[in-house]
Amino acid sequence: MAFDYDLFVIGGGSGGVRAARIAAADWGAKVGLAEESRMGGTCVIRGCVPKKLMVFASGFPAAFEDARGYGWDMGEARFDWTTFRTRLEAELDRLEAAYRRTLKNAGVTVHDARATLVDAHRVRLAGGEEFSAKHILIATGGRPFVPEFRGAELAVTSNEMFHLKQLPKRALVVGGGYIASEFACILNGLGVDVCQYYRGAQILRGFDDEARGHVATAMQADGINIHCGADVMRLERTAGGILAVATDGTEREFDLVMYATGRRPNTDGLGLDALGVDLGRQGQIVVDRFSQTAVPSIFAVGDVTGRINLTPVAIREGHAFADTVFGGKSTAFDHELVASAVFTRPEFGSVGLSEEAARDQEPIEVYGTAFRPMKTAFAGRPDRVMMKLIVSQATRKVLGCHIVAPEAGEMIQLAAIAIRMGATKEDFDRTCAVHPTMAEELVTMRKPIRSA
Ligand code: NDP
Repeated sequence: MAFDYDLFVIGGGSGGVRAARIAAADWGAKVGLAEESRMGGTCVIRGCVPKKLMVFASGFPAAFEDARGYGWDMGEARFDWTTFRTRLEAELDRLEAAYRRTLKNAGVTVHDARATLVDAHRVRLAGGEEFSAKHILIATGGRPFVPEFRGAELAVTSNEMFHLKQLPKRALVVGGGYIASEFACILNGLGVDVCQYYRGAQILRGFDDEARGHVATAMQADGINIHCGADVMRLERTAGGILAVATDGTEREFDLVMYATGRRPNTDGLGLDALGVDLGRQGQIVVDRFSQTAVPSIFAVGDVTGRINLTPVAIREGHAFADTVFGGKSTAFDHELVASAVFTRPEFGSVGLSEEAARDQEPIEVYGTAFRPMKTAFAGRPDRVMMKLIVSQATRKVLGCHIVAPEAGEMIQLAAIAIRMGATKEDFDRTCAVHPTMAEELVTMRKPIRSA
């Protein structure tokens, strides 16, 4: 049977674009791709990229303060949100155009429309046009989830944060994960008075306990009012803003309430149930290690599968899919030892097991250090860096590395290579330090701080 396409990709985000490009450019497949919104997906348009630019923008006040400590006479600095937002929008336009160019150069046909599945080999665009494809890849990503409660419609999500008309004076951020913690720091850095409500005992659940504590303490010292064990019961519009009535009995007024209480996969209305594609409890598409669904011609990658919701993971899954299905090279992305960084201030980089997870698994040694880094200590800031290695007593392999420090994201990327290669603590010890740096502490921790 002749198909219109060898591959039809639904979703032009990180995973879908990589899969489409590799299938077409490297393996000669005839590829169509449908995107209902802007090309580039969450990461480029309303996630990692604009977020990181906001992280940079929000870091300047601290840098100005440090500069004074180094003898610079700075004068008064003023941030203009509109100038920043205009430049941000232009940058996103540039990136979106680059994504489109990449797909065009690879020979992928782009359809700017929502696509749904008709059957195991057919998709229908919103305008009614239908295409057949030998394989269909679903890479529709996810969207912010806001729980139901009175006044929920008054809250915004990360989607809206990049388009605010003006910066609020007082903001409430709800949630304790990556997005909530990052935005709490961004807003705080930009001069907003920030409260963060998190229903649990400590933000960043799932990460190493000591590192979470270190991040939270630093955020609080920086002026963020973190309320753990607090959740919003209801929001009410008032003359002066939005009143948040919380489970801990507090009532406070804010100009902006942002919810970052997780994300949900975009599977609604795609027509998946009728086709026999299995969905998980939160609507995520269930796939095997080759990203294949229960319907052999339909595959899925990225956040819509709810495996690890990170851009580089979606990219690897998309690439592996294209190599497997069109390149004749069975490739499964290995989801073990994926490093990540939370772009809070201070930044938090992490790879492998937390101390808590590791000690449940086997006897371990913990190596750790906390110190005032040279640059900010000289400027008179009290900030502390924390580094921690979790080591298997039996194999001596480093099972986890956790770094809370300026540029921790950059450091953890490099540490992840060694850990991925199976480096032992002794391999770290044999590595000569680069001096004077913060990261040199990773190779100079001689004695365990505890065993467990
Ligand atoms: P997370 O899953 O990281 O955090 C969700 C937070 O919301 C948790 O603190 C959770 O609490 C809380 N929560 C969930 N449901 C409710 C509810 N009904 N009421 C109150 N609180 C609730 O999700 P995010 O939205 O922060 O981020 C989504 C994903 O995006 C992340 O998992 C990550 O993979 C990715 N991401 C990665 C980034 C990076 O690499 N730097 C940056 C941003 C996002 P509890 O802990 O109790 O469950």
